[in-house]
Amino acid sequence: MKILVVGARRSGVFASILGKLHGFEVFLTEKAENSEVRSFEPLLKKYNIPYEIGKHSFEKFSNFDLAVLSPGIPMSAPIVKDLESKGIKIIGELEFANMFSPNTKIIAITGTNGKSTTTALTGHIFKLFNQNTVVGGNLGTPYSELLLENPNPEYAVLETSCFQLETIEQYHPEVSVFLNFTEDHLDRYTSMEDYLKAKKRIFINQTESDFAILNYDDEVVKNLSKEIKPQVYYFSLKESIESGAFLKDNKIYFREDKFSKPKEIIEKEEIPLLGLHNVQNTLASILCSIVMGVPVEVIRDGIRTFKGLPHRLEFVREVNGVIFINDSKSTTPDSTIKALESFNQKVILIAGGSSKNNDFTQLAKMFRDKVKFLILLGQTAHQLKEASTKADFHDFAIVGSLKEAITFARNIAKAGDIVLLSPACASFDMFRDFEDRGEQFKEIVSEL
Ligand code: ADP
Repeated sequence: MKILVVGARRSGVFASILGKLHGFEVFLTEKAENSEVRSFEPLLKKYNIPYEIGKHSFEKFSNFDLAVLSPGIPMSAPIVKDLESKGIKIIGELEFANMFSPNTKIIAITGTNGKSTTTALTGHIFKLFNQNTVVGGNLGTPYSELLLENPNPEYAVLETSCFQLETIEQYHPEVSVFLNFTEDHLDRYTSMEDYLKAKKRIFINQTESDFAILNYDDEVVKNLSKEIKPQVYYFSLKESIESGAFLKDNKIYFREDKFSKPKEIIEKEEIPLLGLHNVQNTLASILCSIVMGVPVEVIRDGIRTFKGLPHRLEFVREVNGVIFINDSKSTTPDSTIKALESFNQKVILIAGGSSKNNDFTQLAKMFRDKVKFLILLGQTAHQLKEASTKADFHDFAIVGSLKEAITFARNIAKAGDIVLLSPACASFDMFRDFEDRGEQFKEIVSEL
């Protein structure tokens, strides 16, 4: 079988290697030419995989039996249209990898926000339960790469994005999690309905013996139960769920069904992650674990020992009683709202970055209650300043660099204060990406 892999980033490169090692004839094509793509060349050479970078040689593609798409390539791309017109079957990298490990039990996690955290926490719990577990997907390590390291895992906990779901066929999670649904990716989808349609594909191969974990507090997600086959367990921060997990009086409970007594799983205070949104993510992880038979003691142990992911409300350091927190992953006003809600005190907030045409009105309304002083930087500094002034909040300063912002914060902070980097904006005006921004923040703070 001849396989054409489209896209030479991590997913495409590892799909090529996986295919090659399984005896397929593979060719990799990548339109872009940049240092990231070039960095994979030694690996492609090592595995003897022929490739092209900087173009698609459409004229050669008729000979292929199957095309494997990287998740970054939209179905509307010219190459997809070309392959379709030639009658070549197209699947995504996730679907492709899935072909090679048919007996692995999959826990698939999707939603607009919280996917990475929930995947990492669930993976951490499953690894304590059964070491033969792989964790990744859209988060960090593609499934193809995970299967190269471990060809036959018992469990795979996979963050599964809407883009990946567009190109699945047989991908069949034993447990699927749908965390929440809010506006996103409208650059790639023409409407919210299209975006939801893609995400709902997570359930298409599930049967009555599988499980769906749904957010009861999210109207759209809650109502999905009406149209899917798997057994549904809900999670909620507000309601005592009949069949699922919920928060009540600062404790987390699980109830099998309306005839059973709620069972206490863990106290909220024992969750090391900050913020109520992370309690939601924890509830989802608990349900994934319970339905797959993970003992409660292991779940508890997993929650207590989970360190969280970098750049998401990450504790960095305490300097003279001042705590520095890195929330560089916050690239939208909503994320910064979530971050501010996570603290019981006013914080010194460092915000601003490159613009995604966001509206800061709602965020600015929180400043009076939640912010002690606002330090602004980047392209959106003036826009944020205007939003603050409109919200009658005037304790701010505009600075020229992250280093200046941190020095400024340190100079005004008193023991007991929290300095929070939660930009509410993308990072591309001053940094390579949000990771780079977070790393620089941590480095500067470590030198204080
Ligand atoms: P994703 O992988 O879906 O982007 P992350 O776990 O990386 O999610 O979290 C990204 C940001 O989304 C967090 O910094 C936080 O602001 C917000 N977030 C996380 N979990 C939730 C949730 N359950 N509900 C709403 N927002 C959340």
